[in-house]
Amino acid sequence: MNQIRASDAADMRRCRGDNLRRLLRGGYLGLLAAAIATTPSVAGPPYPVRAITVIVPFAAGGPTDVVTHIVTGHLAKRLGQQIIVENVVGAGGTTAAIRATRAAPDGYTLLMGHMGTHGSALAAYPQLVYDPVKDFAPIGMVVRTPVLVVVRPGLPVNDLADLIRYSSQHAEHIAMAHAGFGSISHATCTLLNTIGAIQPATRAFQGTGPALKALVAGRVDYMCDQIVGAAPRVKTGEVKALAISSVRRSPILPDVPTAAEAGVPSFEVSAWSALFAPKGTPQHVVDRLNAALGHALDDPEIRRALGSLGGEIPLADERSPSSLTGQVQREVSRWRPLSRPEAAPGGERVRQ
Ligand code: ASP
Repeated sequence: MNQIRASDAADMRRCRGDNLRRLLRGGYLGLLAAAIATTPSVAGPPYPVRAITVIVPFAAGGPTDVVTHIVTGHLAKRLGQQIIVENVVGAGGTTAAIRATRAAPDGYTLLMGHMGTHGSALAAYPQLVYDPVKDFAPIGMVVRTPVLVVVRPGLPVNDLADLIRYSSQHAEHIAMAHAGFGSISHATCTLLNTIGAIQPATRAFQGTGPALKALVAGRVDYMCDQIVGAAPRVKTGEVKALAISSVRRSPILPDVPTAAEAGVPSFEVSAWSALFAPKGTPQHVVDRLNAALGHALDDPEIRRALGSLGGEIPLADERSPSSLTGQVQREVSRWRPLSRPEAAPGGERVRQ
């Protein structure tokens, strides 16, 4: 038996050697190598096979929450799995971002980050435990959202110059709402305060959804909110919009002047929301999510829903993960000089 096995083995070796020589002669190995080099990356195991959670870093009803619900409705259908939206509030959105960095990088926990969590929060929290570039796998830009400066209806101001004048005359009484240090509402209004030397008392909320309710109720005087959150209340007259932070007026609020038209050209900000996964998420998962997101952004229903709230859909060349990395890097540099908000005008003073 042993002999037979040994001779079989020798035959097999000879045979393999002959085949190899034949392959080399025919150039098959070269073809094989070329085929391997040009084959697209391995598809990977099926994804998704169960429900996906998207973490929203602010309270329900705010702009991030609204945008997330609009887009995930489509993503869920496209990916064939349920998407659970989880609101994780606190610390201007950074609590949620930290949670996302600690999640398994398997595509089943994602974060709807934004200009705050991936930009201005770094200026607000110098000891932030995550790096917005290195600790995430960017999926893609979801929407751009200009910021509105809105005031409670009873405040006797009609434009930005009025607000600046009024606040200097009533410095002890003017109160600004925001969604936590480092959030979009906080960073953008801190910028406005710096430009206009406004020194308000500040009140933090778990998102601009509840902050806007406080504004409507007259419990605070003004705030800066992404258009997708504030526009419906501006249209109903529950709050007054003094200016929009974009270069052009929004088609959905054509009567609201740009900050430049209102005499404050340096108040120019374009906020945004984007989808992120934890770093280490497999490439095929990132690709799948990015493709599904692109599909959602081309869907007429999604475009109508975001557009009717003043959201601006990213163009095709702004939708790649690498384009989002560039946006995050620019945002971090832009807000760095604002440094600690406590040191900025209006810092920690809280209205009693
Ligand atoms: N966008 C946040 C929200 O959805 C608030 C903020 O960043 O200002 O409430």
